Amino acid sequence: MVAEIISVGTELLLGNIVNTNAQYLAGRLTELGFDMYFQTVVGDNTEHLKEALDNAYRHADLVIMTGGLGPTKDDLTKEMLAAYFGKTLAFHQASFDNVVKHVHAFGATEITENHRKQAMLPTDSLILNNEHGTAPGCVMENNGKIVVLLPGPPREMQPMFEQCVEQYLYKLVSKAIASVMIRLKTREEAPADRVGEAPVARRLGELVDLENPTVATYAQENGVLIRITASAPTKAEALMMARIIGAQCKERIGDDVIREITEE
Ligand code: ATP
Repeated sequence: MVAEIISVGTELLLGNIVNTNAQYLAGRLTELGFDMYFQTVVGDNTEHLKEALDNAYRHADLVIMTGGLGPTKDDLTKEMLAAYFGKTLAFHQASFDNVVKHVHAFGATEITENHRKQAMLPTDSLILNNEHGTAPGCVMENNGKIVVLLPGPPREMQPMFEQCVEQYLYKLVSKAIASVMIRLKTREEAPADRVGEAPVARRLGELVDLENPTVATYAQENGVLIRITASAPTKAEALMMARIIGAQCKERIGDDVIREITEE
């Protein structure tokens, strides 16, 4: 299944903040077994966001979007997103209660219209509670397209992803992945015509053309690393597949292998 991350925020576009959300999400989605071909950063602009969504759904079934949904943002963004998925906005009491709880915890007492607006959420969608802030997240589905909307602040986004979104995504992909890495000797420890990246790839032969597991070589300062990554319905199966191909790689590289690392 193909996923794409859309990071919303003019601060990101201008280089004022680093897109750590995309880095985090890309890692988690890869672990879950999603394929990803593109990532997008888009400013707080409804038209541009709509264009980014149209582009994303040309390849992807799932879009994970972070940021751009806080109370200070243009309400049109939330309305546009709901309309894009054929939904309307309705008041969501549990989310409003959460907003009030956080407002009071921050020492404020006045509940404003903006706070109420945060609890206006798409109907017929999965609402994700924000334990660390006021902006709820949500998941909308329509015609085979799925979007997961998450708040921008990492300390709100990450727990929401881990506590609510991952379980949902597990059901979408019936795969898990596992990797085995093989570290080779450096050029100081063995002849370059044996342990350079090109000779290593040659020695691995047709193994580097496999699709599952995949076998990739990385030239690093402390020697070439061979990474074997398998995907399967369960972690155990993926690990077994990666280990079988890992053993074949080691056989071909022989004495130039230093060690094997397993990443579950
Ligand atoms: P708010 O309610 O604070 O407006 P929001 O969901 O609309 O939240 P943004 O306004 O886009 O999110 O971002 C709020 C803050 O979250 C940013 O100032 C930044 O510190 C952080 N943030 C947003 N997006 C990212 C990102 N992609 N990577 C890292 N940090 C981010």
